[in-house]
Amino acid sequence: MSAALRATVLSRGFTSRAVDGFVGAVGNTPLIHLKKLSEKTGCTILGKAEFQNPGGSVKDRAALGVVQDAEKRGLLKPGGTVVEGTAGNTGIGLAHVCRSKGYKCVIFMPNTQSQEKIDLLRMLGAEVYPVPAVAYENPKNYNHQAREFAEQLPNAIWTDQFDNTANAQAHYVSTGPEIWEQTQGKLDGFTCATGTGGTLAGVGRYLKEKSGGRTQIWLADPPGSVLYSYITSGGKLNERAGSSITEGIGQGRITNNLGTFVNDISGALHIPDEKSIEMIYDLLDTEGLYLGASSALNVVAAVELAQKLGRGSTVATVLCDGAYRYQSRLFSKAWLKTKGLYDAIPEHLKKYAVL
Ligand code: PMP
Repeated sequence: MSAALRATVLSRGFTSRAVDGFVGAVGNTPLIHLKKLSEKTGCTILGKAEFQNPGGSVKDRAALGVVQDAEKRGLLKPGGTVVEGTAGNTGIGLAHVCRSKGYKCVIFMPNTQSQEKIDLLRMLGAEVYPVPAVAYENPKNYNHQAREFAEQLPNAIWTDQFDNTANAQAHYVSTGPEIWEQTQGKLDGFTCATGTGGTLAGVGRYLKEKSGGRTQIWLADPPGSVLYSYITSGGKLNERAGSSITEGIGQGRITNNLGTFVNDISGALHIPDEKSIEMIYDLLDTEGLYLGASSALNVVAAVELAQKLGRGSTVATVLCDGAYRYQSRLFSKAWLKTKGLYDAIPEHLKKYAVL
């Protein structure tokens, strides 16, 4: 890595002025040089520290983006209500944004979710409706219930994170430019997994445009998602098969947020859970980073992509959130054993599985 790039990567990018509330604190996250993995591969592996957003995840950007878009279009007025179907970080981001802007927040989620998540959303002032965990095709699915609830309420919006492209746009105007600036455009590859596809499409589109196509954009996909086979088979959409412990990612369809960008993706990497689990523990041991499974999966993919692009290449990915929201699973011996994943942790790292 060049001295100039090192200086940029290491600088925290602090502004000298205070930012304006929760909203002002979203974004401008550091880009972390993952030293040990870079040394091991002879490449530069970089992780965008999205866990440092004020609501704790990459979804703060999308949550803010969809709310600001609805305000701009006059769909959401003071005192209004924001409704979403979500089981995770989007709901947390929206609940924060709503509190900071004075909106009501209503979240529909499958009733299989942990009590901690329901409690957290309620502590953030959201009204939470756990509903039967039924498939998307069923009208009682949490997404449809959220849409119907918003339709019946005056001055309410359904933010529709999967198909509302204000989500990807938030990454196009913030995450993408930040990564470009932090690497001074010296970026050979970018890879990340998708839930809604907002991060991959928003960041990917920006980096492709700015680099004139030089920066390759690769999808990282967990088991149980159809996108890896879609991209590697030239556009065939199979049924979902298999499952993964990586929460918040994996997809069964081409969302509006991925849209036509799916055709501009250079390639796809399939990352099994064993590799993601090993990387969670490895990042903790070698970098002191306490990250969730989607971040670890992204880093595995970044290493694989760097190796494909060759020695000396620079690849960036996204560190989506911290492990705090999942620690009762990811650091529990018993839970990992029930998933057949305990032995994926190398012997010298098993000491971290303390629960
Ligand atoms: N990681 C985590 C932990 C998430 O919650 C999400 C969003 N569901 C993602 C990654 C994927 O982000 P996106 O929706 O932008 O594809």
